[in-house]
This record gives sequence, C-alpha cells and structure tokens, in this order.
Amino acid sequence: MARSAESEHARGQITVVYGPELASYDFGIDHPLQPTRHELTVDLLSSLGWLDDEEVRLESPRPAALSELLTVHSYQYVQAVELAQAIARGEKPPANLAVYGLDTGDNPLFPDIYDAPALYTGASVQAMETILTGQATHAYNPAGGLHHAMRSQASGFCVFNDCAAAIARALEAGFRVAYVDVDAHHGDGVQAAFFSDPRVLTISVHESGRFLFPGTGAIDEIGMGEGKGTCINVPLPALAGDIALVQSLTEIVGPALRLFRPDILVTQTGCDAHHADPLTHMTATLPVYPKLARALHDLAHECCDGRWLIVGGGGYDPADITPRAWTAFFGAVLGRPVEDTLLPESWRRRSRELGGNPPALLLDDPGPTYTSLVDNSLPALFQEVRAKALAELERSMVNES
Ligand SMILES: [Zn+2]
Ligand SMILES: [Zn+2]
Repeated sequence: MARSAESEHARGQITVVYGPELASYDFGIDHPLQPTRHELTVDLLSSLGWLDDEEVRLESPRPAALSELLTVHSYQYVQAVELAQAIARGEKPPANLAVYGLDTGDNPLFPDIYDAPALYTGASVQAMETILTGQATHAYNPAGGLHHAMRSQASGFCVFNDCAAAIARALEAGFRVAYVDVDAHHGDGVQAAFFSDPRVLTISVHESGRFLFPGTGAIDEIGMGEGKGTCINVPLPALAGDIALVQSLTEIVGPALRLFRPDILVTQTGCDAHHADPLTHMTATLPVYPKLARALHDLAHECCDGRWLIVGGGGYDPADITPRAWTAFFGAVLGRPVEDTLLPESWRRRSRELGGNPPALLLDDPGPTYTSLVDNSLPALFQEVRAKALAELERSMVNES
C-alpha cells in the first residue's frame, strides 16, 4: 500500500525503549557480542537529531518480571541463570551449568548474566505493551533480538529470548503475531517456542545452516501439530546478498503475511548478513537496510494496521557497520532521507576511538570484494519454499476458516 514518507505518524506514535544500563549485557572484551553496537546506534540516531522527532517517544527499560520470563523459559532454567549470576559475582561456589548452555565459550558467565538479559527482555515486552495499549504504532528495542535462547538453554550469545517473551505478551492479549527474522542466523529459539502454535507465524530468512550456526532452518521445518504451516524458512546460500534479502521479502514474506493476516508484526533486524560481518558468509551492503525497513514498514501498515515491534539482533562490526545499518533501518522507518545523510563528525570520532573507520556518508559502502554468483539459484529456492511452506500455510488457513 502506498504511503507518503513524511509525517505519517502522529506525535509520540513511535516508542523507542532504551537506556544506558542495557550496556551491562557484556560477555567481556574478547567476545563478539559487544554492547557498543547498540550504544553507538542510539548515539548516532541522537546525534542526527532523529530521536527528537515529535513522533518519537523515548522510554527507559524495566526488567522482565519472573512471570514474563516463564512464558518462554522453564523455571529450572531461570533458576540456573540466577545461580550463574551468583557464581559470577563470587557469591556461590562454581557449578557445572553446561547443560543449560551457560559458562560455555559462546555464553560465558558475567556479573549481570541474569539482570542484563532480564532487562533486555523487559524492554521488548514493554515495547510490545506500548503497541498493545494503542499508545504506539511502532516500537523499537535496539538492544533486543536475542533469538537463539531456548526454553531451557542459553545459546548463541542469547540468555533469555526477548523476542519470544514479547510475542507471548501479545498472545496473552489475544493477538495473532507474525515474526519475521532477517538476521543471517536462523531464528531457531523463536521458531522452537511457537513451532506448534497456530497463533504465531515465524519466518526466518537466513544463511543456510550448512556452514553456519545453528545449523537449522531448512525449508522442510514448517511447524507441527496445530502449528503445522505457520513456520517458514528461507535458507539462502552462502554469499547471498542484497538481491536475495529484498526478494525474500517480496517473494515469500509478503505473500505469507497476506495469507496469515496477523494483528501484529514483530521483526528481528540483525544486520550480520553484511559482507564485512566477521561471523557469517553473506554479502549484503548497507544500502539494503533502509530498503528492508521500507518493505517491512509497508507490510506492517498493509497487514497489521501498522502495529510493528522492531528489535535488533546480530551484528558484529560493533563500532561501524552495525550502528550504521541500524541507524539507516530506523531512519527509514522515520521517513528520513537516509541515502543523503552525512555522518556527524563527533560520531565518526567516537566510532574511530572504538575501532571503527566510518566514511563521510551514512550509507557509503565499498561493497564486497568478490561478486556473488548465487542469485541465479534464487528462483528455484523460492519455488521450493512456495511449494513446501507457503502451500502448507495456505492449507492451514483454509482449515482454520
Ligand atoms: Zn508507520
Ligand atoms: Zn546472527
């Protein structure tokens, strides 16, 4: 549906939930997941003056209550995370927590290992609530998007699954939810949480699990039981880039949302599909992020009356590419002309101090140093997703009505 980019949102209609205390989610200096990525994002948005828009309303995050964590995690696991924090603070003797995915290479202990993930989760639930109450149309938690956390296990840098907890809050309120995940890694934790739930459609567009963590997300994972048909995976080949991401939205995500007719859209916008990302093998460039934002924004207004929760996700070039990708994404949501935006000198200095090397323009990107030959394989891939997953979604919708 066509919308005019300027001043389409009323005053205070877009909530941003953020506070400096979110930086306490910190596995340490040598870990790939650095809080710098969302700190510098909010810093850039704010230096550009974009958070001063009258449509934007800032809220400080509050921690998730135990009951909110228990909507998607087992009590035993939540207790294990509490114990992990006590151990990390030297209040309890060491214990073996590997069965919970804790105290591992990916998820090492740190002093706020309970409090910080609980705050991330509270922030996403709180952002969702501003939509459920009608206060906001769109809401954004740049620190959220921890999509790998499982019911009883930490995984892939994710301790609590804020995406799943926010979705569970919407279900409690009687809403049906579509979750779209464009992180380069499969959104396995969110998929697992709602695999047999017909009220949640999960769609993950990611680099195939063949060579990348977590290894799941194949086309034939389509949900089970009553949820059969409400899970879609688009496993892109390694080296896939902008064309693959954009076409995944037009070829699969759009048609799926039109079939499912959700009340609320939740998007996980990890930007680790960028060619400079050290953890993945994809070739996206910065200019694709505002394009993805506009396409998802249009879908939110077309399919969900605008109700749209945006959370962050992966992104492992924390001082440069990641904050620029997310600023471009959110700037496009605000209708800003991100393509012509110059980076403020104060921000470039801060980025350089933290190891970045940003150019003059927000979206300057030399592109990958190799060209992608995989685009020819996309039509066959989309055809297979249509035949196996979209067709099943269509069947489940017919059965429901
Ligand atoms: Zn809008
Ligand atoms: Zn990722």
